[in-house]
Amino acid sequence: MADDLAEDEVLYNDLVPIIYCSKCQQLNGLEGDGWTLAKVRRVCMLAGPAFLVSKCYRCNKCPGNNCKDYQFRAHDEGVIKQLPAALESSLNIRFTQHGAVEVSLMDFLLRNVSSGVSFADSTDAVQELHYITYNRSKLGHLQYTAERGRLAQKRSSFFMGSAGASAQVPQPPDFGAYKDRQGYRGWVPSRSYLTRMLLAYLTERLAWTKERLAMVDEVYLRGDHTFRSASKVKTAEGGKAYEAVYTVMNEFSQVAAQWMVGDTSFREIEGGL
Ligand SMILES: [Zn+2]
Repeated sequence: MADDLAEDEVLYNDLVPIIYCSKCQQLNGLEGDGWTLAKVRRVCMLAGPAFLVSKCYRCNKCPGNNCKDYQFRAHDEGVIKQLPAALESSLNIRFTQHGAVEVSLMDFLLRNVSSGVSFADSTDAVQELHYITYNRSKLGHLQYTAERGRLAQKRSSFFMGSAGASAQVPQPPDFGAYKDRQGYRGWVPSRSYLTRMLLAYLTERLAWTKERLAMVDEVYLRGDHTFRSASKVKTAEGGKAYEAVYTVMNEFSQVAAQWMVGDTSFREIEGGL
């Protein structure tokens, strides 16, 4: 019962019943080829790196590869493209050309951009979080290995008496540097990289919004506050007469209604809406 739930409702396996060869789009010579740590796909998360390890496949004598064997991974672009859009958008990562980014990271940047935090400061925050995660992992590693050493010593003193108790706790193995390619494999997500990712994410979201709006066959209205023009209107005493102008436009970008309002609470325009 629990297994059925995990397969069908959590992993959405029913949406991806078959993976086709990404070169020849066929199934004939396809077989599983185990797991590999080579060419892992890196994922830029909000607070640190993550790595996508996927299963390998081999298309024997692939017609799309001059009848030579073709090996590919489940996270290769050609396979990702086979995923239904519903499945891809439900993942908490978005694939890029060679890697992937976490959706929460994009939401974090987007939230900061819309609330006026400078992009430079936001990307600094992401870089700082990546280093903090590395330091925390390193500290955790040291504490864990020290604890294991103490436990080993306790065990040997139990079995061997005082001779075991005097045994030295071995030095924990080195955790390695931040960018160690054989170890932690950290990297610093640059400002230009994060800018590109955010723009791609926004474009993707825009496409979705446009698609949804195209499906609406009724009229739709959109409204927003503007503070600039209201700030120019002054009372005789020199104070502000209004806080903002609220404008409602129809689907042809024509102004349908406009209110001068004292605040942004919508209380004053409740009747009009
Ligand atoms: Zn093939």
